[in-house]
Amino acid sequence: MNAQQTTEKPYTYKQYGNTYVVSIANHTDLAESIMTFCKDMKISAGSITGIGAVNEATLRFYDPKTKQYVDKTFTEQMEVANLTGNVSEMNGETYTHLHCVLGRSDYSALAGHLLSARLNGAGEIVITAFDSPMERYHDEETGLNMYKF
Ligand code: FE
Repeated sequence: MNAQQTTEKPYTYKQYGNTYVVSIANHTDLAESIMTFCKDMKISAGSITGIGAVNEATLRFYDPKTKQYVDKTFTEQMEVANLTGNVSEMNGETYTHLHCVLGRSDYSALAGHLLSARLNGAGEIVITAFDSPMERYHDEETGLNMYKF
């Protein structure tokens, strides 16, 4: 193997039936590593939960009045007190939808969509894969990508 070509994944995992327990590699991007895992495992539908610690996170708030997203980055050590989300597909691409609550050192909390976050500690994620795909479509009324059932 060429030394410049690394096959190292940003996670390790153990599978229990249709459930994966995933340990995200330290200092990687939590949201990106979850996406990489779902793509690698070809998970086209499922639910995601997790806990961990990060030292930078970009959260997103959706304003339904303006249909605009407002993003804000926080750079400090924070506990991922809860990460909740799901995985589906949109236009044939893997689509993750992640929300998280971040605990600050003063025990207050921040919350929002999780866009990106640099892991600084553990990242312990559980992903349950569903046995048939879930699709999304863009809904003009809400401006959101909704489930297509
Ligand atoms: Fe959302």
